[in-house]
Amino acid sequence: MYYNNFQDKELSALGLGCMRLPCINGEEANPDAAAVQEMVDYAMSHGINYYDTAWGYHYGKSESVVGEALSNHSHDDFYIATKFPGYDLSNFGKHEEIFEKQLEKCKVDYFDFYLFHNVCESNIDAYVEDKYGLREYLLEQKRNGRIKHLGFSVHGSYEVMMRFLEKNGDIMEFCQIQLNYLDYEFQNARAKVEELNNRGIPIWVMEGLRGGALAKGCLGAEKTLETFRADFTPAHWAFSFLESIPGVTMILSGMSTLDQLKENIDFFAEKKELKDEELGALITAAHYDIEAREGTVPCTACRYCMENCPIQLEIPRILELYNEHVYTGGGFLGPMGVAALGEGHGPSACIGCGACAAVCPQSIDIPGAMSKFTELLAKADF
Ligand code: SF4
Ligand code: SF4
Repeated sequence: MYYNNFQDKELSALGLGCMRLPCINGEEANPDAAAVQEMVDYAMSHGINYYDTAWGYHYGKSESVVGEALSNHSHDDFYIATKFPGYDLSNFGKHEEIFEKQLEKCKVDYFDFYLFHNVCESNIDAYVEDKYGLREYLLEQKRNGRIKHLGFSVHGSYEVMMRFLEKNGDIMEFCQIQLNYLDYEFQNARAKVEELNNRGIPIWVMEGLRGGALAKGCLGAEKTLETFRADFTPAHWAFSFLESIPGVTMILSGMSTLDQLKENIDFFAEKKELKDEELGALITAAHYDIEAREGTVPCTACRYCMENCPIQLEIPRILELYNEHVYTGGGFLGPMGVAALGEGHGPSACIGCGACAAVCPQSIDIPGAMSKFTELLAKADF
């Protein structure tokens, strides 16, 4: 494992993201404590010293299960990050109660890193007006040594990030953004990177593999990319891209199995920045892919929308099937997948209330996609 400097600390280049932990029977709300312990122990003994959890991950269970696993190690040997859950407006005003509970769940006396979570279109007013005193409260915790470093994560647009920075840029020590070679142009991550570099704010990366999708294939550009680095897997290209972006200090990956963890740790033994021509080939491939994906939606399977759906639709799964259907121009996989969800659980069950879209960090028109998918399925020959 190699390390990057951050103020007085050396952070492992790879951090363990704790939003896609192994789960019992694949149930999101039921992380497998024994498997998590095994992963954390392996990570600790192989150089990972950064663990990123959050109030909402795994329906509130991530902090507890990660805190328990880390409690078997000395806090001198790891850094833990968690976040104020501002993606849910009803949490504003409850910051003190939430912060105290987070310390308890994570079994620590202080957080090394604490973030304003998921700054986006739906909560930017609450974050910048700060009528609830969140900013002041977190600064006080920092003065008291209960927070070592303050930062924020942003899923909103560049303009939203700028509004947040205008208000809080003076106290922000790092910023977590969605960054990968697809989003660099597609979701204008490049502008965010440049702005953060200009301000000297180090970048933490989330969704570097885009919810795991970029680990499965390199946009169909494998043949071209092989001519540069024959030994690279799609995940390697995605990670090396991140290592080549100025200001990137922490790369988070939400790993779900010990095997993934081992593979990623092996890759991060040393930095493998891309040369200019390699970067160029990857970005060109991304452009082709974006064109090919016209009509698809950029869902990252973060699942924030799930809690808001009155009929509990498996929104990310339906959108995954929708993307598959649009990207392939039809085919049987989409209809078959929807049929497998069962009667009343497919896109046609959506009542169009929009409660999901209000919290989607990718600003996806979810009811629109549900309606479009319903139309497409009606025409499908399946
Ligand atoms: S718009 Fe549809 S998918 Fe979204 S919350 Fe409402 S019913 Fe659920
Ligand atoms: S639709 Fe939006 S909120 Fe829901 S899982 Fe996808 S990216 Fe996350």
